[in-house]
Formats: sequence, C-alpha cells, structure tokens
Amino acid sequence: MSNSRKKAVETVVGREVISHRLAGAKVSDYYASNVFNDTAMREYLSDDAYKAVKTAIKTGTKISREIADAVAAGMKSWAMKKGATSYTHWFQPLTGLTAEKHDMFFMPKDGGAVEVFSGDALVQQEPDASSFPSGGIRATFEARGYTAWDPGSPAFIMEIGQGKTLCIPTIFISYTGESLDYKAPLLKASHFLEQAALPIVRMFDKDANRVTATLGWEQEYFLIDEALYYSRPDLMFSGRTLTGAAPQKGQQFEDHYFGSIPERVYAYMLDFETECHKLGIPIRTRHNEVAPSQFECAPMFEEVNVAVDHNQLLMDLMDRVAKRHKLRVLLHEKPFAGVNGSGKHNNWSLSTDTGTNLLSPGKTPKNNLLFLAFFVNVIKAVNEYSDLLRASIASANNDHRLGANEAPPAIISAFIGSYMTDVLNEIEIRVAKDKYDELSNANLKLDIHNKIPDVMLDNTDRNRTSPFAFTGNKFEFRAVGSSANCAQSMTVMNAIVGKQLLDFKVEVDKLIKGGETKEGAMMRVLRQYYTESKRILFEGDGYSEAWEKEAKKRGLSNVKTTPYALDFYTTKKAKDVLVKTGIYNERELDARIEILHHNYSLKIDTEARILSDMVTNQVIPVALGYMNKLIENVKGLKEIGLPAASAKMQKELVSKIAGHVNAIKEAVDKMDTALENAHKGKTSADHSKAYCDKVKPFFDVIRNHTDALEAVVDDNTWPLPKYRELLFIR
Ligand code: ADP
Ligand code: MG
Repeated sequence: MSNSRKKAVETVVGREVISHRLAGAKVSDYYASNVFNDTAMREYLSDDAYKAVKTAIKTGTKISREIADAVAAGMKSWAMKKGATSYTHWFQPLTGLTAEKHDMFFMPKDGGAVEVFSGDALVQQEPDASSFPSGGIRATFEARGYTAWDPGSPAFIMEIGQGKTLCIPTIFISYTGESLDYKAPLLKASHFLEQAALPIVRMFDKDANRVTATLGWEQEYFLIDEALYYSRPDLMFSGRTLTGAAPQKGQQFEDHYFGSIPERVYAYMLDFETECHKLGIPIRTRHNEVAPSQFECAPMFEEVNVAVDHNQLLMDLMDRVAKRHKLRVLLHEKPFAGVNGSGKHNNWSLSTDTGTNLLSPGKTPKNNLLFLAFFVNVIKAVNEYSDLLRASIASANNDHRLGANEAPPAIISAFIGSYMTDVLNEIEIRVAKDKYDELSNANLKLDIHNKIPDVMLDNTDRNRTSPFAFTGNKFEFRAVGSSANCAQSMTVMNAIVGKQLLDFKVEVDKLIKGGETKEGAMMRVLRQYYTESKRILFEGDGYSEAWEKEAKKRGLSNVKTTPYALDFYTTKKAKDVLVKTGIYNERELDARIEILHHNYSLKIDTEARILSDMVTNQVIPVALGYMNKLIENVKGLKEIGLPAASAKMQKELVSKIAGHVNAIKEAVDKMDTALENAHKGKTSADHSKAYCDKVKPFFDVIRNHTDALEAVVDDNTWPLPKYRELLFIR
C-alpha cells in the first residue's frame, strides 16, 4: 500500500510534456495584440479623444466627461471585436495580489439586450471594498473605496479559458481620497522625482520636458509538480516548506545554473511567454537559476508605472499557466531551507524624453557631468535613506532570504565598481576646497571623461553580493523579494532620489549665486556628497561575516526582521521624505505601516497553524506507527528467545523517536500559548513583534525535530514529499 506521497511521486514520473505552442508563429505577429496601445487607440479613437488621452498620459491632465465617453466607446468596440464580453477595473490593493470585479457590457433593453460601456464606467468604479486592507482608514461600515482610471498604463484583455475581459488599470482610493493601493503613491513619487530632476537636466538639455524612472525587473521562481504541491499543506497555504530535511545532493554542484532547461519546464515557459507577449509584456530572457528547480525571466525595461503593472500581471499569468501544465509556481522568497531563495532584482534608472539615460556615462564631457550629478546623488540618497530602502523590501517572506544562502544581507550598501571609485576619488582630491580656485573646468572635465571608458558596462557587474549595485547604466536593487510588488520599493527609491535632487539643486544654486560657474558649483557639491556618503559604499563580499562587523562600525543598520525594519517608516527622516513631499499624507503612511504589520502577523499566524497541524496530524501519527512496529519487533525477538542485545538498535531508535515526538509536542503546546498571547499588545506593531519574537522561534525547534524524524522513520510511510522529490523530479 502506498501513501499519498508515494502516489504523488508516481504521478509525477508518469507526466507528459504538455505543449500549447502556436506552431510557427512569430512573436511580432501577436505581440501586444491584447493591448489597447497606441496603434489600437489611433484606430478606435477620434483625433480629439486620442490627443486628450496622450496629453493626460504626458501631463496628468484630467479627461473631460465627453472625452471619457468617447474613449470608452472606442475601447468597447476594440474589446468586443477581440471577443471580450465584460470589463473590470484592475487594481493592486495592499493584500499583495491584484483585484478585479467583472461587469458585463450587456444591458437588457426592450426585452432584448445591448452592449454598453460609458465614460463614467471607465473613469471610476466603486467596488465593494470592505474586505481590502485599509489600516483603519475606512471602517467597514463605510466600505466605500473608489478605483480611478490610470491612463498611463494601457488597458488590456485578459483571456481566461474561453472568457475574455477588458481590464482597465486603476488606482484604488478611499471615499475620503486616501490611497489604499500600491499604485497611487508610486505615481505621486514618480511625479515628484520628475519635478526634482527636470531643473537639473535642463541645466544641460533645454529641450528635455520629461524625466521618467525606468524599471527592468528580473523575476526568480521555483517550479514544482502539482501532485507534490498538493501533498504538502505548507506549500499550499504558505508557499514554503515548513519542514523537510536537506537532500543528499543539494545545489552544491551548481550544475543547474545556465544548464539546459528541462523539457516540461521549457514547454511551460514558452506558454507563459506567449501569454505575456500578447499582453505586451516584453519578456526577453529565460534561464535556470542556481538552485535546482529554480528559474528566472526578465523583460526589456519600461517606464516604472507600466513595468510594475507588467510584473503583477506576469506573476498572475505564471500561476495560471502553470496549472495548465500540472505545475505550480512558487514565488515565495524562500520555499526551501538551505537552498537559494528567490529575488526580484529591480534595475532602476532615469531617462529623459530627449533620449538620455541619466545613469549612463556619456560620450562627451558635458554629458558626463550630468551623469555624475545623478550618479552621486543616487549614492547620497541611498546613504541618507538606507533604512527606508530596507523598510521598503520588508516582508515575512523576505526575512528568510536576506542574509541566507547567496542573498544580499539585511544591511543596505552600494557597489559602484573600481572605475567609478577611481573617478570619485580623483574628484575628491582635485576638487578639494583649498585647490578649488586653481581648478580649471576644462581640465577637470576632460580628465573625468577619460576616466569613464565605454567598456565600463563590462566591468561593473562583478560583485553579485551587493544589495544595490551600479551595473554600468543603471542601479540594480537586488534585495527586493520575488513575491513583492515592485511599487513598494520603487516608490521609496523615487522619493529618496527626488528629495536628494531637490536638496542638491538648492546647494548648487547657492554657490552659483555666490559667483561660481555651473560646473564648478556642481563639482564642489558632488565632491562633498561623495565624502559624506562613503560609509554606504562597499565593494567586498556582502555575504561575509567580516562585512557584518565592518558595517556595524560604519553605523549601518542590520535589521533582520520585518516588524523592526518597519519602524524605519515612522522616523522623522521618513516623514520628511515621504510625507512632506506629498507622496503620502500622515494618515496614509500610518495606515500603510499598520497594514504591513498586520500582514506580517497574519503570515506568521498562518504558518504556525499549518505547522502545528502538519506535525500533529501527519508526522506524529506516522512516527508513532513506526515506533509500534519497532516495539512489536523487539517483543518478537524476545518471544523467539533471542538475547536482549539483538534488539539494541530497535530500542535505541524507539527512544530516539519518542524523544523527538515529545519535543515536538512540547514545542507545539508552547507555540499555541504564544499564539494566544500574541494579540495582547496594544498596537499592530506590538502584535507583529510578538509573532516575530515569541511565536516564530518555535518554527525552528519543531522543524529540527521533525527533520530528524524524517531521517529515521520508514521511508515508505513518511507522509510529506521530501526535498529530493520536490527539487529533483520533473
Ligand atoms: P543581466 O543583469 O542579466 O546581465 P542586463 O543587465 O542587461 O542583464 O539587464 C537586466 C535588466 O535590466 C533587464 O530587465 C533590462 O531591461 C534592465 N535594464 C537595462 N537598462 C535599463 C535601464 N536603463 N533602466 C532600467 N532597467 C534597465
Ligand atoms: Mg542583472
């Protein structure tokens, strides 16, 4: 008789490759075919409507009611021609998922029906929002929240089976106007950054009218078979394994990285990439990651608003398409202990509407000063607000990953590479105060130019251990978790750099007023910034213990758990950069912190209950059953008259198993008490800290004893798929 684990393994071994590939189709044939993009807008909108939408996208102007009606009519015709029968406002509430509520186009009329979609329905909706987190902003009795159209991200058609729905990207706000989602603050932060960056850009480029933050994310994930997934309640309900002994062969050989992609996985990738391409998500790369069964995909970068939407859509698509292939995608930051976790590198840069990447060293000295200004200001911002960046990536999931197995530590630092270090050191020496008067601008500019070679791109990305690395023409924020909504960290990124650029401009202007040249003033301030920001720069091994010690000396924070990292959001510094700048109001920020604490508590609470259930109802009964078998064996040996010594091993094993079983039971009981007490504190921060300090420590205790049992209990009866099965069978 085989148990559910054995059956699952048999099922996986018998699986066939499922292919949904459109044979012979070129991506360009169907790319963005489900997006109401520029081409579709030109075809389906009047000139006036088209222009109004374009202006709204560029400048954030309001769209009049008549125009909204015209746009809605165009969108409806386009969507219906594509076979859509319903529409939804698509938004990103603070649950971390995306949300939608579908309405049909059809309306009964005169005994028949017509299809309608008005400007009102396009612009604003009032979903029954009582169950979305609001951090106390919106009491459930006044459960009103609004979704409002964001023309900056194009509408699209989501296909689910035979159903097709027109999805309209929106922001989600409370009845009183406070943001309740990830997108509204991101849009505000991007606008703030643009306003701060433009005056500096214009000192060099009079034609520039826009500065946008760009984001290219790299998404890591694990894939496992559906049958194995269903045999593990922890994977089903928390996304990670709460028990499981290390496999005999781990990732130590690293033969998976850039190795050939298994066929079943490849078929899956082709399938979800096709879905991505239809939705205009520019996925371009795929490869194996370091851990067994771990993979990565990445698109071409886009404007941050659209890139965030595309990443949310991607995660949704990956999950749906995996089910077609009898696979499950694990987006959790740390599904397997002792194996690499998953991140979502956020490649971030700034670009102008005149085609300049502000973090790319230019070919002329003039451009290089502009580049240097942005480069040094980013470093200064990261130094000033490193704690906020830490807070922006905090989640219960990511706590398991940061600082463990090839993931950046919880210490925020920046890597810039030896070329840029040399350049900055040279500036520091040459622009030293006492020598400033002798400084010839022409001379200095030329030198800097010579110092930034074109080959820099190939020379910067050597250090993979830094949480924030300059990679030649962008910064790569690697500490972001794989399941996170990028908007959270990108909002903070845009905010801190925006604030920094405002401060920079004030200082430069002061010097210019005092008679300095533009170049001289800039160089002087940049020099000072570099000197002040050195503590954040680290070129060594970020995974090493030595760095932890060194970082402590430098006064850099190393906060390893979310409830304490979230405290950074409540400091005066945080409010200066997030509230005074208008990105959040005080209430919004407080509510957000509240929700993040609550999410943490909920996560630990769920994991505690699942773990307790698994060990009590699955592990212990099997262990006891095996013990009984051993006891029978000992009795039998005695019955047939063998000496007591012949039962030595069995007796020892019985006592060992009994020891682990009792230890598990004891820890579970204590954890239950800790769970009951976790809500006794006053605030949601008290609760999350109690979960972190009083409940979570039992996870490891229970796990260690359970994993020890896994090593001795009869393999034929062990109920939970083992790591070697989860990671190596495909
Ligand atoms: P890798 O990190 O694998 O070597 P790249 O560095 O070329 O690959 O690109 C990684 C990601 O960085 C991609 O998503 C890419 O689109 C993105 N990227 C490249 N340039 C920029 C930019 N200027 N702004 C934002 N993201 C960028
Ligand atoms: Mg990269």
